[in-house]
Parts: sequence; C-alpha cells; structure tokens
Amino acid sequence: MSQPKRVALLGATGSIGKSTLEVIRAHPGRFEISALTAWSRSDELFALCCEFAPAIAVVGPAVDAGALQSRLRERALSTRVLQGAQGLNEAAGWACDLVVAAIVGAAGLEPTLAAIRAGKQVLLANKEALVCGGRFFMAEVQAHGAQLLPVDSEHNAIFQCLEGQHRGAVSRLILTASGGPFLRTPSDQLARITPAQACAHPNWVMGAKISVDSATMMNKGLEVIEARWLFDCPVDKIEVVIHPQSIVHSLVAYRDGTTLAQLSHPDMRVPIAHALLYPERGASGVAALDLARQPALTFEQPNLQRFPCLRLALDAARHEGDYPLFLNAANEISVAAFLKRQLAFTDIHRVNAETMAQARGREPGSLDDVLELDTTARRIAAGLVEQISC
Ligand code: NAD
Ligand code: MG
Repeated sequence: MSQPKRVALLGATGSIGKSTLEVIRAHPGRFEISALTAWSRSDELFALCCEFAPAIAVVGPAVDAGALQSRLRERALSTRVLQGAQGLNEAAGWACDLVVAAIVGAAGLEPTLAAIRAGKQVLLANKEALVCGGRFFMAEVQAHGAQLLPVDSEHNAIFQCLEGQHRGAVSRLILTASGGPFLRTPSDQLARITPAQACAHPNWVMGAKISVDSATMMNKGLEVIEARWLFDCPVDKIEVVIHPQSIVHSLVAYRDGTTLAQLSHPDMRVPIAHALLYPERGASGVAALDLARQPALTFEQPNLQRFPCLRLALDAARHEGDYPLFLNAANEISVAAFLKRQLAFTDIHRVNAETMAQARGREPGSLDDVLELDTTARRIAAGLVEQISC
C-alpha cells in the first residue's frame, strides 16, 4: 500500500470534524492524523488523541493545555499540546499532506491562510475565508501553489460536475438549497421561532450556527459568494434553486443545453470522502441512492420576500469589497444573539441589513485588513443587538 496521507484536522470536535474522522476510521492505514484541534471540549480531544496519537493537539485559551498535556503523558503519548491562535497556525502548517479547515466562523481565517501559505492541499469547509476575503485568499492560493478542495456539499458537487469539462462552455452554476425548516411556515409566525426549532434541519445534521443560517437561507447566500471565488464565476451566472429533498447537491449548466448534477443522500461524509480520497474514490460509509424508492425530486425558485437574508447576501455578492465581510460578521453576531435568545429570529435580518449598510466597498488586501474590518463590523452589529434586545 502507498504511504498514508498525513492529515491536520482543524475543528476536530465539530460536526465536519466528526464526519471527517468517521471517514478516516473507515480507511485503516490510508490516513495518519498529524494534528487535531478543538476550542473547548478538552475531554473529547483527549479521547481523540488517545485514538489517533497526533504529533500535535491544539486547544483554546479556555482549556488548561498543561492539564491535557499531563493526561496525555500519563498515557505515554508524545502528542505536544499547543494553545490559541498561534497553536492553530502551527497545526495548519505542520508536516502533513492535507489540512481540513473545519473551524466555524471568522476564527478559521488565520489557520486556513496558514495552510494556504504552507502550500497545502486544503479541504475547505470554512466558507467564511472566501466570504470575507475571497479575492485576497484566492490570490494567496495562486501565489503559494496551494490547492482548495471544497467540502461544502454544493461546492463539492459543482467541483465534480466541472471536472474534465471545458470551462468556457459553462453557462451557469446552480446551487441547490433545501429551504430549511421554515420553507412553508406562515410568515407571521417567524418572529416566534425558537433556537431549537431553527436548529432542527429537515435533512442535514450540522452545527448550530450553520443550521440557523440554513433556516434564514443566509447559508445559501454565503455559498453563492463562496462559489463566486472558488470557481472564478461572475455572480450573475450563479443561480439558487430550492430543492427540499436535498438529494441533488448542485448542478452545472453548459452551453449545449446539458446540465450535470451530483446526487447522493444528504450526508457530509460523501463530499468529505470525495475530498479526502481525491483524485481516487472510496467508501464514505453512505449507501448509494435507490432511485426507484426515492421520493419525487422537486425544484422551485426561492422567495426572496420570505428569505430576506438571501436577498441581502446576493446584494453583498454583487457589491463585493467589504460588503460580504460586513454581512458575515453581522450574521455571526446576530445568530449568536438569537441562539442566546437575545434576538427574535426575524431580527437576524435587521441586524445584518443595518450593519451591511455601513460597509463602504473597501477591498481587503491582507489578513490584517480582513480582521480589522471584521472587528469594526462586529462592533456595529453588537451595538445593534444591544439596542434591539433591550
Ligand atoms: P461546529 O460548530 O460543529 O464545529 C466547529 C469546530 O470549530 C469545533 O471543533 C470547535 O472546537 C472549533 N472552534 C469553534 N470556535 C473556535 C475558535 N474561536 N477557535 C478555534 N476553533 C474553534 O461547526 P461545523 O458545523 O462543523 O462547521 C464548520 C465549518 O464548516 C463552518 O465554516 C461551516 O460553515 C462549514 N460547513 C459545515 C457543514 C456541516 O454540515 N456542518 C456543511 C458545509 C460547511
Ligand atoms: Mg452547503
């Protein structure tokens, strides 16, 4: 057998992190874990270190790294425990063949950039990197010879539908969206939606933040921006279509009238296995579709009145510059406030729109620019949350 691929997994305790480890477990001898990171769940990270014996493990400042290091030593493990942002950057640039960027939110930007600058193959789940600084991140990918392999299911589907095709013949990229749990909820009930209801996605099991983003359809808006950079495609050639069954994960339409699609059960292990094993294919642990038993596949246009966050994100995508960044930062603040019950579901859009209105179209040219603009936008959004919630 060939040498195992060495994997640094950033965000090992999250939803994507866990699915990644499930796929890796299904391929004994094929992968070796070189680094694992978790922000707060140190017991979980300890158990994963015992199982995978990585060279390094990284925890957030809230966790006592020394205590974790001692526990690992008692188990005779040589894993070195690092802490905080610097530890994450070290993990991302560590001797490995691929880095899985699965930290949620803007916190994932710096380590993703560190992996890109180390010229790694980066399995990109953290969509925020391209949303906040797409032009800058893609220039860094070029400059350092890194390779981005999309893990987001829609982008992974498009990546598969583009492979081996003539790029000049593409007429549209079509992103599918389930429409989330409130696709048919009467609009006058949306203000009373609870976090538990918003997190109960009909088809996918995901982290809390992205589940709420699916319920507002902000997630699809962020994905349009992600696709714009990942596939170097103008925004007006990217279309969103509602597909409540989440079986068709996205499509590419070609000039000759052909549309290619990628289909599977809605389970993130499918795109993760594709990216981990690329360019080969292997088991993901998910069964193939049984088409004759499948419920009918339906498609409809999104209603931008019902999903104003999608409209906002499409506006941000067209404006470029710091608009997507302001929107993303505001959305992280407003969703966190909604999850803490400080904001109503419908106030998420209000905070996002009012914050985005303060963007000025500045184009971030460095990570410092991105982080500075991000801090400004968060401050504005936090102020709005305070005003609205009292
Ligand atoms: P999650 O909340 O389940 O897990 C997030 C991980 O990030 C955890 O390991 C956590 O320890 C770590 N983390 C959180 N805050 C951190 C910080 N400040 N510093 C360092 N690490 C931190 O999130 P998830 O659902 O797995 O999503 C991860 C990323 O993948 C997101 O960008 C999301 O948009 C994207 N994504 C997720 C899915 C999905 O199905 N879950 C699908 C497509 C894309
Ligand atoms: Mg997605």
